[in-house]
Amino acid sequence: MRWGLIGASNIASAHMIGAFRSFEGDEVVSVLSGDADRARAFADKNGIAAAHTDLDEMLADPAVDAVYISTTNEKHFPQAMAAIAAGKHVLCEKPLAMNVADAVTMVRAAKEAGLVFATNHHLRNAGSHLAIRDLIRAGRIGRVQSLRVFHAVFLPPHLQGWRIDNPAAGGGVIADIVVHDADTVRFHLDENPAEVVAMTAETGLGKGVEDNVMSVWSMPSGVQVFAHESFTHRLSGTGIEIHGTEGAIFAKGVMTQRPVGDIELRTDAGSEAISFPDHNLYIRGVGLFRDAVAGRGAPAADGVDGICSLAVANAVAEAAQTGRRVAVDYGG
Ligand code: NDP
Repeated sequence: MRWGLIGASNIASAHMIGAFRSFEGDEVVSVLSGDADRARAFADKNGIAAAHTDLDEMLADPAVDAVYISTTNEKHFPQAMAAIAAGKHVLCEKPLAMNVADAVTMVRAAKEAGLVFATNHHLRNAGSHLAIRDLIRAGRIGRVQSLRVFHAVFLPPHLQGWRIDNPAAGGGVIADIVVHDADTVRFHLDENPAEVVAMTAETGLGKGVEDNVMSVWSMPSGVQVFAHESFTHRLSGTGIEIHGTEGAIFAKGVMTQRPVGDIELRTDAGSEAISFPDHNLYIRGVGLFRDAVAGRGAPAADGVDGICSLAVANAVAEAAQTGRRVAVDYGG
């Protein structure tokens, strides 16, 4: 597969270019940036032949089979629509768009064009989360009663740009991390949050955008979810706990980009350490995307998954802004 990169981003250089190139014969043929110097510098640094500033020109290249969109969030929608119109398969970063209606439009457009559209939710590709999901499916904790997700991290200095001061570009911890947690919760519980309540705070990094959020979600089954996301917590660690009638899962250090962490299953029989595979999360996601393009199966997280995670995040934002309980609007 031959990839075009829309966005000269950190995530592209840190994780995705390596993931694309890990498949024999696959290539990254071009990169697009809003700035010509940055496009050229990014292309040179990453060994990419073509550097573009004109999206239509990049998309006109028949050598590009698929695009990976990792620009700031407000650009995802117009860029995805252009890529779909040009007949390219799309792997898009989260959140898919700034609002659910745009996300629905782009996912529908890809479907109508017969193109693969995927959302880059890496966590559901982690061996840890696949193992947790298996435990729940196998009934090891009985009926799920509640879930707590802890995803309070310290935003590294090199990412302290638009995320902490630019709401128009999709800044704030809700757009950045709640979307991932929403996807992970949906992955484990196989249902969509119905209603949410939330409060946000600026705790040291956010300048006009929230850098800390706590929210509670009600699931149609009656399961309650508590979620905490932050940019300002240096030592909190991450994790997810899932509590059921017959047992509980305590997973530490698993809300991360790396294949690490510990999973403990606690039942009346005692405590059991659960092992899991340590494959690269992004490579697994790209592999499933390639398979889907080849007509085999579906991407790890498809467009509907991206719509749903955005819908939950936007409901959390609205609940925090209004102080009200908000029904999640999935766009019909
Ligand atoms: P970056 O800030 O690295 O890049 C985003 C855009 O900012 C780039 O497309 C680029 O614009 C511009 N930019 C980058 N560096 C500079 C610079 N030095 N000066 C000026 N502008 C610059 O963002 P991230 O890689 O952190 O995130 C990009 C997207 O990926 C977001 O949607 C984010 O939510 C998502 N993401 C997803 C992750 C995941 O695991 N799924 C992890 C991290 C991010 P241009 O292209 O015009 O040059």
